Amino acid sequence: MSVEQRPEIVTLMAERGSFDPPAAFAARANATPALYDEANADFEAFWAREARERVDWETPFHTTLKWELPFAEWFVGGRLNISYNCLDRHVERGLGDKVAYHWIGEPGDTRTFTFRDLLVEVARCANALKELGVGQGDRVAIYLPMIPELPIAMLACARIGAPHTVVFGGFSAEALAGRINDAEAKVLITADGGYRRGNIVPLKQSADQAMQETPTVERCIVVRRTGHEVPMTAGRDLWWDDVVERQAAECPPVWVDSEHMLYLLYTSGTTARPKGIVHTTGGYLVGTSVTHHYIFDIKPDDVFWCAADIGWVTGHSYIVYAPLANATTGIIYEGAPDTPAWDRWWQIVEDYKVTILYTAPTAIRAFMKQGEAWPAKHDLGSLRLLGTVGEPINPEAWLWYHLNIGGERCPVVDTWWQTETGMILITPLPGITRTKPGSATFPFPGVGAAVLDSTGQPVGPGGGGYLVLTRPYPAMLRGIYKDPERYRQTYWTRFDGTYFTGDGARLDTDGYFWLLGRVDDVMNVAGHRISTIEVESALVDHPAVAESAVVGKTDPVVGQAIFAYVILKAGRQPSDELAVELREHVAKVIGPIAKPKHLMFAPDLPKTRSGKIMRRLLRDIAEGRALGDTTTLADAGVVETIRTESGREED
Ligand code: AMP
Repeated sequence: MSVEQRPEIVTLMAERGSFDPPAAFAARANATPALYDEANADFEAFWAREARERVDWETPFHTTLKWELPFAEWFVGGRLNISYNCLDRHVERGLGDKVAYHWIGEPGDTRTFTFRDLLVEVARCANALKELGVGQGDRVAIYLPMIPELPIAMLACARIGAPHTVVFGGFSAEALAGRINDAEAKVLITADGGYRRGNIVPLKQSADQAMQETPTVERCIVVRRTGHEVPMTAGRDLWWDDVVERQAAECPPVWVDSEHMLYLLYTSGTTARPKGIVHTTGGYLVGTSVTHHYIFDIKPDDVFWCAADIGWVTGHSYIVYAPLANATTGIIYEGAPDTPAWDRWWQIVEDYKVTILYTAPTAIRAFMKQGEAWPAKHDLGSLRLLGTVGEPINPEAWLWYHLNIGGERCPVVDTWWQTETGMILITPLPGITRTKPGSATFPFPGVGAAVLDSTGQPVGPGGGGYLVLTRPYPAMLRGIYKDPERYRQTYWTRFDGTYFTGDGARLDTDGYFWLLGRVDDVMNVAGHRISTIEVESALVDHPAVAESAVVGKTDPVVGQAIFAYVILKAGRQPSDELAVELREHVAKVIGPIAKPKHLMFAPDLPKTRSGKIMRRLLRDIAEGRALGDTTTLADAGVVETIRTESGREED
C-alpha cells in the first residue's frame, strides 16, 4: 500500500500512568462536572450565561451568535469597553488597592501597580494617543520589551477603540516593518531598549530602520527603559515621559460594538508570510476570562504567573486581558530565565509567593537540562497549580514539572490552543479531570473538537488523524486582516465547512485527545505516518537526553527515514555507543518501526522566538539542501553549527 493510501497517523506512544485530581483541590475547585452538561445541552446558552455574569456591558447583547460559516459574530448588539472591564469596574467595587501587577526587571529593579495605579496610567496613555490624533479604528503598533508600559499601551488603545498590533520585541526591523505596513499603523510605541541576558536589545534602532519603510507611521512614542542614548527624529519621535506623564489622569472609555476589532496579531510564522489574525472585543473577553477562571481555578488571593511574552497570543490573553478582567494579581518578568542564574524563576516564585505558573514545554525542558538542584534551592510551596502551552509536552517533561516544580501536589493543565483561537480550547479542568502526562485531555465545555481521517470521517477511539473544530466559540478569529479569501483557504477548505487546525491528534480509548504537533511534523515511514513528537518523547525518556527534534529524511526504501537530533543533558558526552543505545531505546519504548535511522548529537536546536522547534530547517539540513526562510529564527548561529556538524557526519 502506498504512503498516500495510508494516511492515518499511527500512534505508538506508551502512556505513562494517570493522575486523579487531589481531593483537597477538588473540594474547592471553580469547575464542576455540571459545566460540561450545561454546555452540551446548549452551548450558546452556556456562553450567553457566562457573558452576562462575567462581563459588564454598557448595552446588553440581543443575539448570542450569528454564524454565517466561516464568519462568526458573538454577543451581537452588545456594547462594552474591555479596559473598563479590566480596570474601572474593579476600582469602583473597592479593589483599587489590590495589586494588578508585580513587575520585575531583569537587572533587579521592581515596580508594583495596583488596579487604581494601572487605571491612571492607562488613562494618561490614552489621552496622549488622542492628542496625537489616534481615533477609534486607527491602528497602533507596539514594539516594547516586557515592561509595564506594554500592557498599559495595549489597554490605552482598547480604551479609545484603537486596535493594537503588538510585535514581539525579539523580531527584526524587517519583520516589524512588514507588520506595520499590513496593519497600516498610524503610531508606533517602542522603547530605547530592553534587557535580555544582561545585554541591551536595541529596539529603537530596529524601529528607526523599520520606519524608513512604513509611510503610515506619523508619530513614534519612545519609552525610556535603559537610558542609553538613541537618536530621536524631530517632528516624529516623542519621549513617553514628555507626552504621557503630563496628561490628565482620567479618560472616559469609548464604548464599542461587541464585534469591534480589539487587535491584530501576526502568527509566529513557522511557515509562510505572516497572517494578521483579527480578534474582536466581546467574544474575546468572554472566551478568555471564562477559560482563565475555570482552567486556572482563579481565587481572589491568587498570584498568577503566565511566563510567556506579551508579544504572543498567550501573553495577550493570559497576562493582560483575562487576568485583569478577573481582577487577578499577576507577575511580569522582563528577562531571561538564566539571568543571573538558572534559579531566577524559582526565586521569583518564592519572593512573590506565586500560586499558579503557566509556561511552555520548551522552558521546562531547558530547566530539566540544568538539573533539579536549581528549583530545589527555593521554597516553591506557594504553588498550587501548573500549566503548559505551546507544543505537545513529552510525558517525561510533564512528570519532571509535576515532581520538581509542583512537589507532586499541583495539578498540571496541558492547554491546547492557537493564536487563531484566542482562548484555550482543549484542556483538563483542575479538580475534575484525571490527567495523563502528554495529553491535553478534553475540549473545554462548549467547545467542539474532533479527529478526522483524510477523507473527513471521524476516527474511532484509538485512532489518529487531523484535529478539527466543529463549532464556533466566542474568542475565535474573525478572519485574516484584509484577506477573507486567504482565511477561507487556510482554515476552511481542507475539510469542507469545518475549521482545520493544522495539527495532528489521536484519541485514546478513553476519549482523551493527544496532540501530535503540526501535520507537516508527521513522517511517512514505510507507509506508516508517525508523529515526530512520539519519537522525540521516547528519546527524552532516556536519562542522558535533554531535548530532541525528529524529522523525516527522504529514503529510497522506506519513503522517509527518521532523522533524530539529540541534545544531551549537562555533563553527558556524545559517543557512538550512546547513539546505538538511544536508537535501541526508541525501539524498546515505541517499537522497531520508530527507531531512528540517523542520529546526530547537536549543541542546540533552531527555534522560533516563541520557542517552537523549526523542523522545516532541520529537514533542510537533513536533506542537505539550501535553507528556507530563516527570518523567524531566534538564533541563526545554531543552524550553522548543526549544518557544519551534519556535513562532517555525512563525510
Ligand atoms: P501559536 O499560534 O503560535 O500559538 O501556535 C499554535 C500551535 O502550537 C498549535 O497549532 C499547536 O501545534 C501548538 N500547541 C499549542 N499548545 C499546544 C499543546 N498544549 N499541545 C500540543 N501542541 C500545542
